[in-house]
Amino acid sequence: ESKSEGRNKLRVFDPATLHARQLQRQIVGELREAIRSDQLVLNYQPIVELATGRIEGCEALVRWNHPVHGLIMPDQFIPVAEATGLIAELGRWVLRTAVGQLRQWRDNPATSQHDFSMRINVSAADLQSLEFVDDVSEALAEESLSPESLVLELTESAIIQNNELDRYTLASLHRLGVGLEIDDFGAGYSSMGYLRKLPVDRVKVDRQFVKDLGKDPSQLVFLAAIQDVIRSCGLEGVWEGIETAEEAEALRSIGCASGQGYYFGRPLPEAGFTEQLTRLRTWPA
Ligand code: C2E
Ligand code: MG
Ligand code: MG
Ligand code: MG
Repeated sequence: ESKSEGRNKLRVFDPATLHARQLQRQIVGELREAIRSDQLVLNYQPIVELATGRIEGCEALVRWNHPVHGLIMPDQFIPVAEATGLIAELGRWVLRTAVGQLRQWRDNPATSQHDFSMRINVSAADLQSLEFVDDVSEALAEESLSPESLVLELTESAIIQNNELDRYTLASLHRLGVGLEIDDFGAGYSSMGYLRKLPVDRVKVDRQFVKDLGKDPSQLVFLAAIQDVIRSCGLEGVWEGIETAEEAEALRSIGCASGQGYYFGRPLPEAGFTEQLTRLRTWPA
């Protein structure tokens, strides 16, 4: 990994090296302990209504504050968690922590003027778990939050496996009333047919599409077409990876509803995000 990517972004395992394999084995053992001993933290990133700057949601993104290796990013340990079954425990921790945090922001007079929903990332394995729907509904009930307060982000690959249990879980979650969103739309190889068949409400378009806009402004026509497909399926589009004012403006000009990206704010730990919520009514100021 290049130095420019930041010294905190340690690449913990790289299948090419023996050292990396040893580290990975070590991580499997340590991750279980990490979940239980408060080494995981959630960062929060705003999701903004492009026309008004209103914050309509925030995405919880997990990091591992490792005592020796420092801050480890999710790409480095979520796959390990998924491969070892630890993802269920990790997912429950994320669910409870994020929902508890939303309750705190609603109760805090300095932040309660913001009426936004919490977004969490859900793994394919979660949809395979029979307890998942109950976990979600219990977590919401414990914090006295309505189901619409929570949006579950699911990647294409997680939902188009298309087996019966997945479909059953999705239908149950939909009936419960939580928001369902496809994440990283367009990143995979899948067809778009499932957009009309699944009980989802939102589609988060992969950040690759916004990135390409910076290289070639004529891409905007293509983005507008994607936007039309999403809308014609009766869904709302969320655009991720917005890094500049120009990108935000371009998306606004073609009628995109919502956006997320470094331009509006980087993912921040609880304290930093609370400070922003306290200071800002709309994004960006
Ligand atoms: P994702 O759900 O697609 O999350 C968006 C990723 O894009 C985040 O990376 C975020 O920090 C990054 N990002 C946001 N805005 C920008 C931008 O303007 N430019 C660029 N270049 N990047 C931006 P992060 O936090 O490293 O997370 C990576 C992935 O790890 C997530 O992708 C998600 O798939 C997974 N993940 C994160 N937290 C969790 C979790 O709690 N549970 C599960 N199962 N997966 C998680
Ligand atoms: Mg996501
Ligand atoms: Mg995404
Ligand atoms: Mg992703």
